[in-house]
Amino acid sequence: MNDRYAVIGNPIGHTKSPLIHGLFAEQTQQDMTYVAIEGPLEPADAFDDTVRTFIAEGGKGMNVTAPFKLRAFAMADERSERASLAGAVNAMTFENGRIVAENFDGVGLVRDIESNLQQPMAGKRVLVLGAGGAVRGALLPFIAARPADIVIANRHVDKARALVEQVGAEGSLTACGYAELESMGQFDLVVNATSASLTGHLPPVPPSVFSANGTAYELAYGKGLTPFLRLARHAGVQGIADGVGMLVEQAAEAFAWWRGVRPRTRAIIDQLTVPLD
Ligand code: NDP
Repeated sequence: MNDRYAVIGNPIGHTKSPLIHGLFAEQTQQDMTYVAIEGPLEPADAFDDTVRTFIAEGGKGMNVTAPFKLRAFAMADERSERASLAGAVNAMTFENGRIVAENFDGVGLVRDIESNLQQPMAGKRVLVLGAGGAVRGALLPFIAARPADIVIANRHVDKARALVEQVGAEGSLTACGYAELESMGQFDLVVNATSASLTGHLPPVPPSVFSANGTAYELAYGKGLTPFLRLARHAGVQGIADGVGMLVEQAAEAFAWWRGVRPRTRAIIDQLTVPLD
């Protein structure tokens, strides 16, 4: 029997992960299967049972998506530093019955920005909108990319402050509310990591934060020109991108972790890209 992998979430019908990992496997000639599993929402321990059944049946690893990232964190035997800071897990590998947990969302995001978009973050001013799970996952990889400063703005500012406190002041990392952004000048990179775009909304970010030579990055993907990207474009920003590259890059990180071989991503990102215009 070939090696078995899966993504688990609920709902799961929208997932692109089986397609992405299938293309990776074909490209790197790995003998494996990758399926989507709709995880049970209740009772509370039914998720754990589903994962353990998959392991018992010979499963080698799993990706985890909403709403199970925290549940997966709780059931893991071992967690990476990134997963621990995020308090959330998006990939697991199973070793002799033990669950080892990772979070590749942040490294996938940084790789997309730095390698695919060719926008190195070192020495740059970075503004992150939102302080939810995706930001928690992104923070350590962002700090490792050594920007001049990172500002995290959130509607509920206490959440952003708590996150900054938890990470500690490695480099210049600050938290604020949206109103304070008016006086903070321009940023080289503005990342919309709120979920506002999923409902067609715009976080209350002032256009003054954008720099014409900079980059505006929308974590949501497949939605075309979101209100955030439209605002950035009106502000004259040259480089705008959505999160499809992050999606494929986090998948590539998991694939490399599981299989020991790194797949090429460019053609797959192109294949999955929904044009922004
Ligand atoms: P969470 O639910 O954990 O966090 C949501 C965040 O959005 C919070 O900071 C919340 O602020 C903020 N928010 C929601 N609505 C608004 C609004 N109308 N105005 C301002 N702020 C708002 O979500 P995640 O962190 O998991 O996901 C965030 C986004 O990232 C989603 O669009 C998701 O699809 C995308 N994503 C993309 C990935 C990819 O591979 N491309 C991977 C993971 C996520 P508050 O705390 O004040 O309520």
